[in-house]
Amino acid sequence: MSLKSQPDEIIEDKSPNFIRSIITEDIREGRHSSITTRFPPEPNGYLHIGHAKSICLNFNLAQDFEGKCHLRFDDTNPIKEEQEFIDAIREDVTWLGFNWGIHEFFTSDYFEKLYLWAEDLIIAEKAYVDDLSADEIREYRGTLTEPGRKSPYRNRSIEENLELFRNMQSGKFKNGAKVLRAKINMSSGNLNLRDPVLYRILHSEHPRTGSQWCIYPTYDFAHGQSDAIERITHSICTLEFEDHRPLYDWLVDNIQLPSKPKQFEFSRLNLTHTILSKRQLKRLVSEGLVSGWDDPRMPTISGYRRRGYPAYAIRDFINRIGVSKSNSIVEIQSLEACVREYLNQKALRRMAVLRPIKVIIDNYPQNQVEELRAIDKPNDPNSSTRMIPFGRELYIEREDFLEEPTKKFFRLAPGREVRLRFAYFITCQKIIKDSNGEIKELRCTYDPETKGGNAPDGRKVKGTIHWVSAEHAIEAEIHQYDYLFKSENPSENENFLDDVNPNSLKKLLGCKLEPCLKDSAISATVQFERLGYYCLDKAATADHIIFNQTIGLRENMKKKT
Ligand code: ATP
Ligand code: MG
Repeated sequence: MSLKSQPDEIIEDKSPNFIRSIITEDIREGRHSSITTRFPPEPNGYLHIGHAKSICLNFNLAQDFEGKCHLRFDDTNPIKEEQEFIDAIREDVTWLGFNWGIHEFFTSDYFEKLYLWAEDLIIAEKAYVDDLSADEIREYRGTLTEPGRKSPYRNRSIEENLELFRNMQSGKFKNGAKVLRAKINMSSGNLNLRDPVLYRILHSEHPRTGSQWCIYPTYDFAHGQSDAIERITHSICTLEFEDHRPLYDWLVDNIQLPSKPKQFEFSRLNLTHTILSKRQLKRLVSEGLVSGWDDPRMPTISGYRRRGYPAYAIRDFINRIGVSKSNSIVEIQSLEACVREYLNQKALRRMAVLRPIKVIIDNYPQNQVEELRAIDKPNDPNSSTRMIPFGRELYIEREDFLEEPTKKFFRLAPGREVRLRFAYFITCQKIIKDSNGEIKELRCTYDPETKGGNAPDGRKVKGTIHWVSAEHAIEAEIHQYDYLFKSENPSENENFLDDVNPNSLKKLLGCKLEPCLKDSAISATVQFERLGYYCLDKAATADHIIFNQTIGLRENMKKKT
């Protein structure tokens, strides 16, 4: 069984933001006739909802200005990158509703070009091979208040640098023995300009280039040059790269590139109760605190998909929060509100009983089964309907019955009459208990005159409850979720693993579902009436049905009494 995405319309995000204004201006002033953006994930983990912000921004801008958006795998660190992540990224971007067409690229495809440009920089005396260790480089770099010191290897001749760099490339040196650095300015106020590292030695198999290379470009050296090769016009990244922009520009100005891209920064998405750092998410996976990258509690695109969040709701949320340069933390409830809003309109209603208690209707004919008509979407006048079986034995929700009802409890109680949704009025006549005093079943009577849910004599009942036919119900396991982290801002917590909510997953066994939920064609999230939204889990089989709670019906839904 698989959970497919729901077909729905792509929303076009035309809302104004500062990047859109820059592009409009660039086109009006003739700096560009068309635009090309890119989404550049490093394939070292699964995409999360922060990435969705970048994906929506880049693809929507390209779409609105009739340009292109490339998918570029920024695969410059073979130690952390895997094919599994490449496949997952493709699947997630597609599921979100975006299509890069033939424009799929890999930074590793540019290794040859990047290498030659590095040699050009050496020849222009703008780069040198340095023998300082990583620690020494850090120490020499200085601080924000103190200028850096020049490396003793900074003034090597062009010939010596070229020979050393070629020897680095041909594998003559061990990891960390040497690096290639740009020769810029060791007393620059911007630490990124204090002779940044351009290449490091890494004897490691690369998923795509195998053992062809043992030196790999740094992010700073690879990124802008890749943008130039792909003729990216607007290279959009998050604010932490703002301080790297002078280096980005320095490289673009000092290398003979096919185009001159520009970098623009926006603030990253942060969400309450959520961690959005691949490094930290990876720890949750590797330490077994979740079942995998697509655990329904994970803020990954694949986790949300498995949880039953519609792609549309994620895009809608991203559009609503907008794009700016100020850092903020968005409340997770606003994402949930988008999910609820969409599902309230689109999800089909079904009946399910999570904690069943048996009801036997004594005056209902033995062996009789009726098919009752139920509406799929009560808020849609053109809604489809379905037939659900009704019989003498039913299940209702244990919490819809109270032996000693409180004042505001209007559901089933001894001697009390309630409506069974789409069916009849029933009255509880007797409680049958087991030897432990636990309620085993409720003996009730029904009024055959109330079929469809109304009494001909006009008498009213205060409660309507859901039910499923005991004979026809299908059994399921249901997973109920709470936030993965207890505190509101877990990412600020050094010991974030201690903050994991031990009650974030509850497995309910022996739940009873209306029979049409057996249909393995169920691919979309449904509403279990009065309970919330649920979707079939991808691990479910015909013999072991599992549903995930997507989200409750209301924010902080209090238990009804
Ligand atoms: P992480 O911090 O989770 O490891 P990253 O920035 O290292 O993320 P990349 O694969 O390099 O991950 O990210 C690809 C693109 O997604 C980058 O352009 C990055 O700026 C953007 N991005 C990553 N996280 C967020 C976020 N929280 N909000 C908006 N954009 C993001
Ligand atoms: Mg990154």
